[in-house]
Formats: sequence, C-alpha cells, structure tokens
Amino acid sequence: MSHIIHRSLRHTPALAVGARGMHVFDSDGKAYLDASGGAAVSSLGHAHPHVLAAMQRQIAQLAYAHNGFFSSAPAEALAERLAADAPGDLDAVYLVSGGSEAVETAMKLARQYAVESGQGERGVFIARRQSYHGNTLGALALGGNAWRRQPFAPLLIDVPHVAPCYEYRGRAPGQSQDDYTAALLAELEAAIVAAGPHRVLGFCAETVVGATAGAVPPTPGYFKGVRALCDKYGLLLMIDEVMCGMGRCGSLYAIEQEGVLPDLVALGKGLGAGYQPVGAVLARRHIVARLREGSGAFQHGHTYTAHPVAAAAALAVQEVLAGERLVEAAAQRGASLMARLRAAFGAHPHVGDIRGRGLLLGIELVRERDGKQPFEPELKLHAAVKECALARGLMVYPMGGTVDGRRGDHILLAPPFIASEADLSEIVSRLEDALANALAGAGY
Ligand code: PLP
Repeated sequence: MSHIIHRSLRHTPALAVGARGMHVFDSDGKAYLDASGGAAVSSLGHAHPHVLAAMQRQIAQLAYAHNGFFSSAPAEALAERLAADAPGDLDAVYLVSGGSEAVETAMKLARQYAVESGQGERGVFIARRQSYHGNTLGALALGGNAWRRQPFAPLLIDVPHVAPCYEYRGRAPGQSQDDYTAALLAELEAAIVAAGPHRVLGFCAETVVGATAGAVPPTPGYFKGVRALCDKYGLLLMIDEVMCGMGRCGSLYAIEQEGVLPDLVALGKGLGAGYQPVGAVLARRHIVARLREGSGAFQHGHTYTAHPVAAAAALAVQEVLAGERLVEAAAQRGASLMARLRAAFGAHPHVGDIRGRGLLLGIELVRERDGKQPFEPELKLHAAVKECALARGLMVYPMGGTVDGRRGDHILLAPPFIASEADLSEIVSRLEDALANALAGAGY
C-alpha cells in the first residue's frame, strides 16, 4: 500500500521510471506513446537535451534564492523573453509554480489593481460553466464544473457562471453562428448587469476550453464581443492559457488568433513543458504601473516564486520552441492529426464531435449521434477508454466533462509537438482499438 495520497485511494498507478521523446516507460519496461503530453504539458517531448543541460547548469550555479532577497538571471531572462513575445503590452510577468497558482495570482493582481484605482467595490469575477481554472479554492470557485465545486462550496467565493461558447451543444438547430455568439454575449452582459457592473472585477475564460470540455474553441468574434463588454463595463479580461497556451493551439498564445488583447494571462503546463513546475501571469503594463505608483508593492508571494531552476527550464523551453519551429509544427501536425481523427472517427456512431485547435484536440462521445445524448455517467466510459488505451501503450487524457448539467465523456489528445506522422498514425490506430474495446466492455 502506497503512503502517497494518490488520486485514487484504492489503486496505485504504474511506476514511471523513464521517458524519452514521445514515450514514457514503466517499471515493467512497457512503453507508452504519449498522446496527451501527460496533461497537455510535455510539448517538447521527454528528455530534451537543451532543457536538461540548461537545468543542470542552473542547479549547479544557483538552485535557490528566495525572492524576498534576490532576483536571479534566469528569472529575469525568462520574464524578458515572455514580455517580448507576448501580444501588446502584456509585459509584466509574475512567476509561480503552476497553473492554479497563476490563476490565484491573477485574481489577486486584479483585485489589488481595482483597490488602488479607487474601485474597491469591484470584487466579483464572472466565469463560464464548463471551464477549469485549477484546484485551489479561488481557482476552483472560478471553475465552472458544479460537481467539482460542490463538496467544497462553503469555502468558495461566489462566482456567477455564464454559458460557455460550446457550439456542438449550445447552438440550436437552424441558429446561425453569429446569432449563437450574440446570444452568449447577451447572457454575459445580463450577468454583469445583474451583479452590478460597478461590483464586477473581471471575466475569466480559457481561450480554448481544455480538459473539462475536450478542446472547445470559441466561435469567430466571441472574444472580440467579450472584450467589448469588458471595456464597456470596466472589467478586466483574464484569459486562462494554462492548457491552451505556449504554442499548443498553433500560435504562442491561443488568444492571438482571436485578435483581442486580454488584461491578464495565466500560464502553466507548457511553460515548463514538464521539466519543472512553473507557471506565470502576464499583466498589461498599466496594471502593474498602477501598483507601482500606488502602494509600490504587489501583496503576494510564495516560497518558490521565480525559482531559478524552474525559470532556466522555462527559458530553455522557449528557446527550443523557437529554434525548432515547434509552434508552427503544432499547427501543422494538429491539422494532420485532425484529418486523421476525422477519417477514423468521422462516421463513428458514438463520436458526436471532433474539434480543437493545433495539437489540442478533443473527441466527444455520445450514446447516439442524432440526439447527441451522452452515455450514462455510471458507465464512466471516458475512464474505460483511458484504461483500454493504457493497456495498448497509449496515453490519452479522458475527461468526464459536464454535458447539459451532468457528466459526459470526452477524450483529449495533446501530444508533444515533435510527434511524427508515424506517431500520429499510431495514436489514431491504437485509439480506435481502445475505443472499440471500451464500448464493447460497456455493452455498446
Ligand atoms: N487552468 C487550466 C485551463 C488548466 O487546464 C489547469 C490544469 O489542468 C489549471 C488551470 C490548473 O493548473 P495546475 O494543475 O498546474 O494547478
């Protein structure tokens, strides 16, 4: 019996003992083709020599220096690089240890900005149903999956949630895409008005919804409309790119494809690409300028804020992304994987939708295509697909996202950007086999 409090308290997962390129190896010597990048993390693949060398150099030079006393060269260089490559004037960077911390930090930065701008009454965030922003209490409150929040409800802040941009289920038959988008924006505006516009601090959304909904991209113009509403009512637009950012959707930031500039961006996962636990918040210049001119300090901090080795790893990841043109590769291989998925599953009786951007792709499973009915939640089909895939040496990221207020089944694919055409072909053929097996096991 393991002494670790694992996700499942009844089952200890296989022991991973090594990883290289597209594969992870367990203690029995079995190789797993990593079609999920862990949890959409490993964008460069495993054991990239440039990142390993940068970490080794840094750890020997300076493993730790508390941010209350010192900055460090890798943290400064990483922030400079992120600022240079980010859209617009998103050039103030706060480095943390992961995605949830990034979201929490962004929430606090927004709040302190409001207070120091003489708008202390602004304290409400609005977010979307069916989104995931992390597991710490503030980030969990923002997240839209009711079943995740419910057990912790008394500890959470109150966050009004509006409909996500989820065309497959949200757009009514015969409704145009523009009308659907307009209806979503009207719902958001109504929520702002209901909360009292002077009380609302910000709106938070993932550009492309990741794990909880299976790679759901926005409709054209949705985020432009959101930006306009934020401007109209003085809200900060906080974009969560923990999963969809850092090249995964085929541009360094997924939001660049929407042509809007957010006020705050949360990063994690692909920032360190699995080599170190690292996240970041990017803030527009005027937000930090306000604090600089006001109290002169951001009232925040963690022991591992701006950790030198984490920063060195993340900087090396940026160098590899640029040097090996991997963001372009994510776009190109994403298109190829999408085409392969459509060919394999486009007519599958239990595949309702195939969607996504770049190398963040999702498949929504349904009992039958016409009515889009989800499978019975008790079947936990997504978990069965994961197990069947693991048995075939394939890692996919299954999720019981929320469908019409209850749990549905999605499979997320988020392989490293180095995936070859042969890897993509292998991913799809093993997934076909795993899905057939899981469905047969469920009696379908
Ligand atoms: N935001 C999004 C969109 C995520 O997908 C995740 C993790 O899955 C998080 C935030 C939380 O990140 P972490 O698990 O690193 O705390």
